[in-house]
Amino acid sequence: MFINGEWCAAVSGKTFDVTNPANGEKIADVPDGGQADAERAIQAAHDAFAGWSGMTAYERSRILYKAYELMSARKEDIARTMTTEQGKPLRAAMNEVQYGADFLLWYAEEAKRVYGETIPAPRGDQRFIVLHQPVGVVAAVTPWNYPASMITRKVAPALAAGCTIVLKPAEATPLCAIEIFKVLEEAGVPAGVANLVTGFDPKPIGEEFVTNPLVRKITFTGSTETGKLLARGAADQMKRVSLELGGHAPFLVLKDADPVFAAKGAVLVKYLNTGQACICPNRLFVHESGIEAFTNEFVSRVEKMRAGNGLDQGINIGPLVNEKAIEKVERQVADATAKGAKLLCGGHRLMDDGLDKGHYYAPTVLGDVTPDMLIYREETFGPVAPIIAFDDDDDILAMANDTHYGLAAYVYTQNLSAAMRTFEGLRFGIIGINDINPTGAAAPFGGQKESGLGREGGHEGIFEYLETKLGGFSI
Ligand code: ADP
Repeated sequence: MFINGEWCAAVSGKTFDVTNPANGEKIADVPDGGQADAERAIQAAHDAFAGWSGMTAYERSRILYKAYELMSARKEDIARTMTTEQGKPLRAAMNEVQYGADFLLWYAEEAKRVYGETIPAPRGDQRFIVLHQPVGVVAAVTPWNYPASMITRKVAPALAAGCTIVLKPAEATPLCAIEIFKVLEEAGVPAGVANLVTGFDPKPIGEEFVTNPLVRKITFTGSTETGKLLARGAADQMKRVSLELGGHAPFLVLKDADPVFAAKGAVLVKYLNTGQACICPNRLFVHESGIEAFTNEFVSRVEKMRAGNGLDQGINIGPLVNEKAIEKVERQVADATAKGAKLLCGGHRLMDDGLDKGHYYAPTVLGDVTPDMLIYREETFGPVAPIIAFDDDDDILAMANDTHYGLAAYVYTQNLSAAMRTFEGLRFGIIGINDINPTGAAAPFGGQKESGLGREGGHEGIFEYLETKLGGFSI
């Protein structure tokens, strides 16, 4: 762990194992922190706040820029660590590290653009001035599926704004977090400004985050269930929250779309990170005029995918994170096929060639999916693509919006007005129009409805870490 500028063990002296999901092998021992460690880290962040927030934005910017350079230079090493502890193919891990570094660069720049405002006041002898100031100590909790970029997406804007931070990474992937904190240390982030608490049981650390009055903001990426728990806890002291939670993305292939082009995109984004991304499509709605061409192209591409250890060449499907993830996928596939879905490929665990040592599930395609099936409503977080035919473009918005999630959605169409209508009508925070990667450090990322609160990235992302203060002056 990294607390107050020093690498340290847990107060209890305990550690926990980190394992490789590709083969179950132990790869490291990491300090098993708990409530006392979180408390110590929060105190350090509190003590460092006056100094860090008192530095100029230019000074903070230079440190973040240095961190960007160091993280970019170590891209391959961090990516190897990521593949080993998380399982995604090395090339995908390299892309993620770059995406993660991009947040350091973007917020090194945005640090200098926290502009205030002067507002005409109602009285002649009055002046209104608006300032933005850092909220204070931030507690951050991040997931295992994007174990580097989800950290910098929080740490970079928090530090740019002048906040100090305590981060708890996911118990499955603490090693990427350790690499990133080494980068921050070497970049010159002062002691106490960024603190890392690792732990196997998230509950006591999370409890300290929400109950310790020194924490003024909770930022979380993970499941909707845990997000709600933290938001409820944070409400007691009215801490600010930003939450990036689950999704159930619809992927719409409208009547006039090119179904083959759409299928190529759909495969790439559905099996991204073996389906373990909150922006993965969870319902592929295809107009019946194109369903045959779409399905043929989709299935033939899926059949060519190779599962295995992400450090090996030519692998596009890594392991799922754990046994629970496999069970969820198995349950959804069994439920769908029992209710009449057609299994077009996959539909089973992968056990040959040593894959039985990891958590592998074959990339799977289901046809004839209907609204009564679990997979139509429940987030899958695995490599299963449910295809649903529809016959009227006019009904599709209501079908796509029929979910309590609202993170990402995708639309394929050649018709400009259909593109604009669906873009405006979809109740989701991120819409790809003939595009499967509508993300980037400069773009606001976040969800509507039960997919979350607030935005990360873009110029909006830094405002999650700033308070607005009005000054009314009589002169
Ligand atoms: P998943 O089910 O995908 O692992 P979680 O929401 O459980 O999603 O995990 C995301 C992050 O939230 C991880 O860092 C995990 O340790 C953390 N987490 C889970 N439960 C709690 C909790 N009660 N308090 C704080 N953090 C938690």
